[in-house]
Amino acid sequence: MTNSILDFTQEELEKLFPPKFRAKQIYNWIYQQHVDTFDEMENIPKKMRSELAEKFSISPLEKVQKQISSDGSIKYLFRLQDGHTIESVLLKMKDAEYDEKGELLHHAKYTVCVSSQVGCKVGCAFCLTAKGGFIRNLTPGEIVGQVLEIKKDNDIASNRRVNIVYMGMGEPLDNLDNLAKAIKIFSNENGLSISPKRQTVSTSGISTKIKKLGNMELGVQLAISLHAVDDELREELIPMNKAYNIASIIEAVKEFPVNTRKRVMFEYLVIKDVNDDIVSAKKLIKLLEGIKSKVNLIYFNPYPGTTFKRPEPEKMRRFQEYLLSKGVLCTIRESKGIDISAACGQLREQELSR
Ligand code: SAH
Ligand code: SF4
Repeated sequence: MTNSILDFTQEELEKLFPPKFRAKQIYNWIYQQHVDTFDEMENIPKKMRSELAEKFSISPLEKVQKQISSDGSIKYLFRLQDGHTIESVLLKMKDAEYDEKGELLHHAKYTVCVSSQVGCKVGCAFCLTAKGGFIRNLTPGEIVGQVLEIKKDNDIASNRRVNIVYMGMGEPLDNLDNLAKAIKIFSNENGLSISPKRQTVSTSGISTKIKKLGNMELGVQLAISLHAVDDELREELIPMNKAYNIASIIEAVKEFPVNTRKRVMFEYLVIKDVNDDIVSAKKLIKLLEGIKSKVNLIYFNPYPGTTFKRPEPEKMRRFQEYLLSKGVLCTIRESKGIDISAACGQLREQELSR
Protein backbone atom coordinates (compact mmCIF):
# COMPACT_ATOMS: atom_id res chain seq x y z
CA MET A 1 0.00 0.00 0.00
CA THR A 2 1.56 3.31 -1.05
CA ASN A 3 1.37 6.28 1.25
CA SER A 4 -0.76 9.15 0.15
CA ILE A 5 0.85 12.54 -0.16
CA LEU A 6 -2.36 13.97 1.34
CA ASP A 7 -1.17 12.67 4.72
CA PHE A 8 1.49 15.37 4.92
CA THR A 9 1.48 18.92 6.18
CA GLN A 10 3.41 21.47 4.15
CA GLU A 11 6.06 21.62 6.90
CA GLU A 12 6.60 17.86 6.69
CA LEU A 13 6.99 18.04 2.91
CA GLU A 14 9.49 20.89 3.27
CA LYS A 15 11.74 18.53 5.23
CA LEU A 16 11.23 15.60 2.87
CA PHE A 17 11.67 17.51 -0.37
CA PRO A 18 13.99 20.49 0.07
CA PRO A 19 14.44 23.26 -0.86
CA LYS A 20 11.57 24.70 1.11
CA PHE A 21 9.61 26.27 -1.76
CA ARG A 22 9.02 22.85 -3.39
CA ALA A 23 6.48 21.90 -0.75
CA LYS A 24 4.46 25.01 -1.51
CA GLN A 25 4.56 24.18 -5.22
CA ILE A 26 3.45 20.60 -4.56
CA TYR A 27 0.60 21.83 -2.38
CA ASN A 28 -0.45 24.20 -5.13
CA TRP A 29 -0.52 21.45 -7.77
CA ILE A 30 -2.52 19.09 -5.62
CA TYR A 31 -5.03 21.35 -3.91
CA GLN A 32 -5.35 24.28 -6.32
CA GLN A 33 -4.51 22.89 -9.76
CA HIS A 34 -6.23 19.59 -8.93
CA VAL A 35 -3.70 17.42 -10.78
CA ASP A 36 -4.13 13.64 -10.73
CA THR A 37 -0.49 12.69 -11.34
CA PHE A 38 2.90 13.89 -10.16
CA ASP A 39 4.02 14.06 -13.77
CA GLU A 40 1.77 17.08 -14.36
CA MET A 41 3.74 19.12 -11.80
CA GLU A 42 5.65 21.03 -14.47
CA ASN A 43 7.78 23.26 -12.30
CA ILE A 44 9.05 20.34 -10.21
CA PRO A 45 12.29 18.74 -11.51
CA LYS A 46 11.69 15.46 -13.34
CA LYS A 47 13.83 13.51 -10.89
CA MET A 48 11.79 14.72 -7.93
CA ARG A 49 8.56 13.98 -9.76
CA SER A 50 9.53 10.36 -10.28
CA GLU A 51 10.72 10.09 -6.69
CA LEU A 52 7.36 11.40 -5.53
CA ALA A 53 5.50 8.96 -7.78
CA GLU A 54 7.56 6.05 -6.47
CA LYS A 55 6.84 6.86 -2.86
CA PHE A 56 3.32 8.24 -2.92
CA SER A 57 -0.10 8.13 -4.45
CA ILE A 58 -2.02 11.40 -4.63
CA SER A 59 -5.47 10.30 -3.52
CA PRO A 60 -5.97 7.31 -1.22
CA LEU A 61 -9.61 7.09 -2.29
CA GLU A 62 -11.42 5.57 -5.22
CA LYS A 63 -14.92 6.74 -6.04
CA VAL A 64 -17.15 3.67 -6.28
CA GLN A 65 -20.66 5.01 -6.12
CA LYS A 66 -22.47 8.31 -6.32
CA GLN A 67 -26.15 9.11 -5.68
CA ILE A 68 -27.71 12.43 -6.53
CA SER A 69 -30.68 13.58 -4.49
CA SER A 70 -33.55 15.69 -5.76
CA ASP A 71 -32.46 18.55 -3.48
CA GLY A 72 -29.04 18.65 -5.12
CA SER A 73 -27.01 16.89 -2.44
CA ILE A 74 -24.70 14.17 -3.64
CA LYS A 75 -23.67 11.16 -1.64
CA TYR A 76 -20.38 9.40 -2.37
CA LEU A 77 -19.10 5.98 -1.50
CA PHE A 78 -15.28 5.80 -1.55
CA ARG A 79 -13.12 2.71 -1.42
CA LEU A 80 -9.95 2.93 0.65
CA GLN A 81 -6.71 1.20 -0.34
CA ASP A 82 -7.41 -1.76 1.97
CA GLY A 83 -10.85 -2.30 0.44
CA HIS A 84 -13.00 -0.77 3.19
CA THR A 85 -15.57 1.81 2.19
CA ILE A 86 -16.65 5.15 3.63
CA GLU A 87 -19.29 7.75 2.80
CA SER A 88 -19.17 11.49 2.27
CA VAL A 89 -21.92 13.88 1.25
CA LEU A 90 -21.81 17.14 -0.69
CA LEU A 91 -24.61 19.35 0.57
CA LYS A 92 -25.69 22.30 -1.51
CA MET A 93 -26.69 24.87 1.10
CA LYS A 94 -27.56 27.69 -1.31
CA ASP A 95 -27.84 27.98 -5.09
CA ALA A 96 -25.83 30.56 -6.99
CA GLU A 97 -27.80 33.79 -7.48
CA TYR A 98 -27.77 36.21 -10.38
CA ASP A 99 -29.18 39.72 -10.79
CA GLU A 100 -31.58 40.67 -13.60
CA LYS A 101 -28.66 41.31 -15.99
CA GLY A 102 -27.38 37.82 -15.39
CA GLU A 103 -24.41 38.97 -13.32
CA LEU A 104 -23.38 36.62 -10.56
CA LEU A 105 -24.41 37.88 -7.11
CA HIS A 106 -22.94 35.00 -5.18
CA HIS A 107 -21.67 31.52 -5.88
CA ALA A 108 -23.44 28.38 -4.69
CA LYS A 109 -22.59 27.51 -1.09
CA TYR A 110 -21.46 24.00 -0.30
CA THR A 111 -20.78 21.96 2.80
CA VAL A 112 -18.99 18.63 2.70
CA CYS A 113 -19.91 16.06 5.33
CA VAL A 114 -16.85 13.87 5.92
CA SER A 115 -16.21 10.56 7.67
CA SER A 116 -13.50 10.17 10.29
CA GLN A 117 -13.50 6.39 10.84
CA VAL A 118 -14.54 3.14 9.19
CA GLY A 119 -17.37 2.17 11.52
CA CYS A 120 -17.62 3.57 15.05
CA LYS A 121 -16.98 2.37 18.61
CA VAL A 122 -19.70 4.41 20.26
CA GLY A 123 -22.60 2.15 19.32
CA CYS A 124 -25.58 4.53 19.30
CA ALA A 125 -28.88 2.67 19.17
CA PHE A 126 -30.30 4.78 16.34
CA CYS A 127 -27.24 4.83 14.08
CA LEU A 128 -26.59 2.51 11.18
CA THR A 129 -22.84 3.12 11.21
CA ALA A 130 -22.78 1.62 14.71
CA LYS A 131 -24.24 -1.69 13.50
CA GLY A 132 -21.08 -2.80 11.72
CA GLY A 133 -18.89 -2.08 14.75
CA PHE A 134 -15.55 -0.36 14.59
CA ILE A 135 -13.00 -1.21 11.92
CA ARG A 136 -10.33 1.47 11.93
CA ASN A 137 -9.43 5.13 12.09
CA LEU A 138 -9.04 7.10 8.88
CA THR A 139 -5.64 8.60 8.17
CA PRO A 140 -5.39 12.39 7.76
CA GLY A 141 -5.06 11.87 3.99
CA GLU A 142 -8.22 9.78 3.86
CA ILE A 143 -10.09 12.59 5.61
CA VAL A 144 -8.61 15.34 3.42
CA GLY A 145 -9.08 13.25 0.26
CA GLN A 146 -12.87 13.20 0.64
CA VAL A 147 -13.10 16.96 0.19
CA LEU A 148 -10.49 17.08 -2.56
CA GLU A 149 -12.19 14.31 -4.58
CA ILE A 150 -15.60 15.90 -4.18
CA LYS A 151 -14.35 19.33 -5.28
CA LYS A 152 -12.74 17.75 -8.33
CA ASP A 153 -15.75 15.64 -9.19
CA ASN A 154 -18.07 18.65 -9.16
CA ASP A 155 -15.68 21.08 -10.82
CA ILE A 156 -15.90 23.33 -7.80
CA ALA A 157 -13.23 25.91 -8.60
CA SER A 158 -10.19 25.51 -6.41
CA ASN A 159 -10.60 29.03 -4.99
CA ARG A 160 -14.22 28.35 -3.93
CA ARG A 161 -14.09 27.60 -0.26
CA VAL A 162 -16.44 24.98 1.07
CA ASN A 163 -17.46 24.31 4.65
CA ILE A 164 -16.71 21.05 6.37
CA VAL A 165 -18.74 19.15 8.94
CA TYR A 166 -17.27 16.06 10.58
CA MET A 167 -20.65 14.36 10.64
CA GLY A 168 -20.10 11.37 8.40
CA MET A 169 -19.24 7.93 9.67
CA GLY A 170 -17.33 7.60 12.90
CA GLU A 171 -16.64 9.56 16.07
CA PRO A 172 -14.07 12.23 15.19
CA LEU A 173 -12.86 12.65 18.77
CA ASP A 174 -11.98 8.94 18.91
CA ASN A 175 -9.46 9.76 16.17
CA LEU A 176 -8.26 13.04 17.59
CA ASP A 177 -4.64 13.07 16.35
CA ASN A 178 -5.52 12.37 12.73
CA LEU A 179 -8.48 14.74 12.95
CA ALA A 180 -6.26 17.56 14.23
CA LYS A 181 -3.80 16.97 11.43
CA ALA A 182 -6.55 16.97 8.82
CA ILE A 183 -7.93 20.23 10.24
CA LYS A 184 -4.48 21.80 9.80
CA ILE A 185 -3.98 20.45 6.28
CA PHE A 186 -7.42 21.73 5.25
CA SER A 187 -6.70 25.19 6.57
CA ASN A 188 -3.35 25.68 4.79
CA GLU A 189 -3.65 28.73 2.54
CA ASN A 190 -1.56 27.12 -0.18
CA GLY A 191 -3.92 24.17 -0.09
CA LEU A 192 -7.70 24.03 0.25
CA SER A 193 -7.63 27.09 2.48
CA ILE A 194 -10.63 26.08 4.59
CA SER A 195 -10.20 28.05 7.79
CA PRO A 196 -10.98 26.23 11.04
CA LYS A 197 -13.94 28.60 11.54
CA ARG A 198 -15.54 26.83 8.58
CA GLN A 199 -14.94 23.38 10.06
CA THR A 200 -17.38 21.88 12.55
CA VAL A 201 -16.50 18.84 14.64
CA SER A 202 -19.56 16.85 15.67
CA THR A 203 -19.23 14.57 18.68
CA SER A 204 -21.44 12.21 20.61
CA GLY A 205 -19.98 13.82 23.72
CA ILE A 206 -16.67 12.36 24.91
CA SER A 207 -16.23 15.08 27.53
CA THR A 208 -12.52 14.51 28.21
CA LYS A 209 -11.72 14.74 24.51
CA ILE A 210 -13.85 17.86 24.05
CA LYS A 211 -11.54 19.43 26.63
CA LYS A 212 -8.49 18.11 24.79
CA LEU A 213 -9.75 19.48 21.48
CA GLY A 214 -10.39 22.84 23.14
CA ASN A 215 -6.88 22.90 24.60
CA MET A 216 -5.43 22.37 21.13
CA GLU A 217 -6.72 25.85 20.25
CA LEU A 218 -7.38 24.87 16.64
CA GLY A 219 -10.24 27.32 16.26
CA VAL A 220 -12.80 24.79 15.01
CA GLN A 221 -16.51 24.93 15.68
CA LEU A 222 -18.16 22.40 17.94
CA ALA A 223 -21.39 20.44 17.54
CA ILE A 224 -22.71 18.20 20.30
CA SER A 225 -24.99 15.29 19.48
CA LEU A 226 -27.13 15.60 22.57
CA HIS A 227 -30.38 13.86 21.53
CA ALA A 228 -31.67 13.43 25.08
CA VAL A 229 -32.01 15.61 28.17
CA ASP A 230 -32.11 12.84 30.84
CA ASP A 231 -29.17 10.57 31.51
CA GLU A 232 -31.48 7.57 31.66
CA LEU A 233 -32.76 8.00 28.12
CA ARG A 234 -29.41 9.15 26.81
CA GLU A 235 -27.77 5.97 28.12
CA GLU A 236 -30.27 3.92 26.15
CA LEU A 237 -29.54 5.86 22.99
CA ILE A 238 -25.81 6.41 23.49
CA PRO A 239 -24.32 3.77 25.84
CA MET A 240 -21.21 5.88 26.35
CA ASN A 241 -23.33 8.32 28.35
CA LYS A 242 -22.63 6.09 31.40
CA ALA A 243 -19.02 7.23 31.31
CA TYR A 244 -19.64 10.76 30.04
CA ASN A 245 -22.95 11.99 31.34
CA ILE A 246 -24.87 15.09 30.30
CA ALA A 247 -23.49 17.25 33.11
CA SER A 248 -19.91 16.42 32.13
CA ILE A 249 -20.61 17.32 28.52
CA ILE A 250 -22.18 20.65 29.43
CA GLU A 251 -19.19 21.44 31.65
CA ALA A 252 -16.76 20.64 28.82
CA VAL A 253 -18.77 22.82 26.40
CA LYS A 254 -18.67 25.75 28.81
CA GLU A 255 -14.87 25.56 28.83
CA PHE A 256 -14.54 25.22 25.06
CA PRO A 257 -12.98 28.21 23.28
CA VAL A 258 -15.67 29.46 20.93
CA ASN A 259 -15.10 32.18 18.36
CA THR A 260 -16.88 35.27 19.69
CA ARG A 261 -19.16 35.44 16.66
CA LYS A 262 -20.07 31.75 16.70
CA ARG A 263 -22.25 29.42 18.72
CA VAL A 264 -21.95 25.84 19.87
CA MET A 265 -24.38 23.71 17.94
CA PHE A 266 -26.49 21.17 19.79
CA GLU A 267 -27.88 18.45 17.59
CA TYR A 268 -31.08 16.91 18.78
CA LEU A 269 -32.16 13.85 16.84
CA VAL A 270 -35.92 13.71 17.17
CA ILE A 271 -37.42 10.22 17.42
CA LYS A 272 -41.16 9.70 17.44
CA ASP A 273 -42.59 9.20 20.96
CA VAL A 274 -39.11 8.96 22.44
CA ASN A 275 -37.89 12.54 22.85
CA ASP A 276 -40.31 14.72 20.89
CA ASP A 277 -42.34 16.06 23.84
CA ILE A 278 -42.50 19.59 25.23
CA VAL A 279 -41.24 18.48 28.67
CA SER A 280 -37.98 17.54 26.95
CA ALA A 281 -37.90 20.91 25.21
CA LYS A 282 -38.24 22.63 28.59
CA LYS A 283 -35.39 20.60 30.08
CA LEU A 284 -33.28 21.34 27.05
CA ILE A 285 -33.66 25.07 27.59
CA LYS A 286 -32.52 24.68 31.21
CA LEU A 287 -29.47 22.69 30.18
CA LEU A 288 -28.39 25.31 27.67
CA GLU A 289 -28.65 28.24 30.07
CA GLY A 290 -25.51 30.35 29.94
CA ILE A 291 -24.21 28.77 26.71
CA LYS A 292 -24.15 30.65 23.41
CA SER A 293 -25.87 27.86 21.56
CA LYS A 294 -27.96 26.95 18.60
CA VAL A 295 -30.16 23.87 18.49
CA ASN A 296 -30.51 21.84 15.34
CA LEU A 297 -33.47 19.46 15.32
CA ILE A 298 -32.89 16.45 13.08
CA TYR A 299 -35.59 14.14 11.80
CA PHE A 300 -34.74 10.54 12.63
CA ASN A 301 -34.08 8.85 9.30
CA PRO A 302 -35.39 5.25 9.43
CA TYR A 303 -33.61 2.28 7.86
CA PRO A 304 -34.59 -1.39 7.53
CA GLY A 305 -34.56 -3.18 10.84
CA THR A 306 -34.92 -0.22 13.19
CA THR A 307 -37.87 0.14 15.55
CA PHE A 308 -37.41 3.90 15.88
CA LYS A 309 -39.72 6.11 13.86
CA ARG A 310 -39.59 9.45 12.13
CA PRO A 311 -41.43 12.14 14.16
CA GLU A 312 -44.54 13.95 12.92
CA PRO A 313 -43.65 17.28 11.27
CA GLU A 314 -46.26 18.92 13.50
CA LYS A 315 -44.47 17.73 16.67
CA MET A 316 -41.18 18.88 15.24
CA ARG A 317 -42.57 22.36 14.58
CA ARG A 318 -44.07 22.59 18.06
CA PHE A 319 -40.76 21.62 19.63
CA GLN A 320 -39.00 24.26 17.56
CA GLU A 321 -41.58 26.94 18.28
CA TYR A 322 -41.32 26.30 21.98
CA LEU A 323 -37.54 26.80 21.94
CA LEU A 324 -37.85 29.91 19.79
CA SER A 325 -40.50 31.37 22.08
CA LYS A 326 -38.02 31.07 24.96
CA GLY A 327 -35.31 32.81 22.99
CA VAL A 328 -33.28 29.71 22.03
CA LEU A 329 -32.07 29.70 18.43
CA CYS A 330 -33.39 26.59 16.75
CA THR A 331 -33.50 25.26 13.21
CA ILE A 332 -34.97 22.10 11.79
CA ARG A 333 -32.52 20.27 9.59
CA GLU A 334 -34.42 19.64 6.43
CA SER A 335 -33.74 16.05 5.60
CA LYS A 336 -31.32 16.91 2.89
CA GLY A 337 -30.96 14.00 0.57
CA ILE A 338 -33.52 11.86 2.35
CA ASP A 339 -34.25 10.10 -0.93
CA ILE A 340 -30.63 9.02 -1.11
CA SER A 341 -30.62 7.71 2.46
CA ALA A 342 -28.44 10.52 3.68
CA ALA A 343 -28.07 9.40 7.27
CA CYS A 344 -24.52 8.23 7.13
CA GLY A 345 -23.86 4.54 6.99
CA GLN A 346 -26.84 3.82 4.79
CA LEU A 347 -25.15 3.82 1.40
CA ARG A 348 -22.31 1.68 2.69
CA GLU A 349 -24.77 -0.77 4.18
CA GLN A 350 -26.54 -1.15 0.83
CA GLU A 351 -23.24 -1.81 -0.90
CA LEU A 352 -22.11 -4.39 1.67
CA SER A 353 -25.37 -6.30 1.53
CA ARG A 354 -25.39 -6.62 -2.24
N1 SAH B 1 -20.12 10.53 15.69
C1 SAH B 1 -20.41 11.91 15.59
C2 SAH B 1 -20.47 12.40 14.17
C3 SAH B 1 -21.09 11.49 13.17
S1 SAH B 1 -22.80 11.10 13.37
C4 SAH B 1 -21.71 12.23 16.31
O1 SAH B 1 -22.41 11.33 16.73
O2 SAH B 1 -21.97 13.42 16.48
C5 SAH B 1 -23.49 12.59 12.71
C6 SAH B 1 -24.93 12.82 13.06
O3 SAH B 1 -25.77 11.88 12.38
C7 SAH B 1 -25.21 12.68 14.54
O4 SAH B 1 -25.79 13.87 15.05
C8 SAH B 1 -26.15 11.53 14.58
O5 SAH B 1 -27.02 11.65 15.63
C9 SAH B 1 -26.83 11.58 13.23
N2 SAH B 1 -27.53 10.33 12.90
C10 SAH B 1 -27.13 9.06 13.15
N3 SAH B 1 -28.08 8.17 12.75
C11 SAH B 1 -29.10 8.90 12.25
C12 SAH B 1 -30.37 8.58 11.69
N4 SAH B 1 -30.77 7.32 11.55
N5 SAH B 1 -31.17 9.58 11.29
C13 SAH B 1 -30.77 10.87 11.41
N6 SAH B 1 -29.59 11.25 11.92
C14 SAH B 1 -28.76 10.27 12.35
FE1 SF4 C 1 -20.85 6.77 16.15
FE2 SF4 C 1 -22.02 9.18 15.77
FE3 SF4 C 1 -23.17 6.90 14.87
FE4 SF4 C 1 -23.07 7.38 17.48
S1 SF4 C 1 -24.15 8.62 15.93
S2 SF4 C 1 -22.59 5.42 16.49
S3 SF4 C 1 -21.11 8.37 17.67
S4 SF4 C 1 -21.26 7.77 14.20
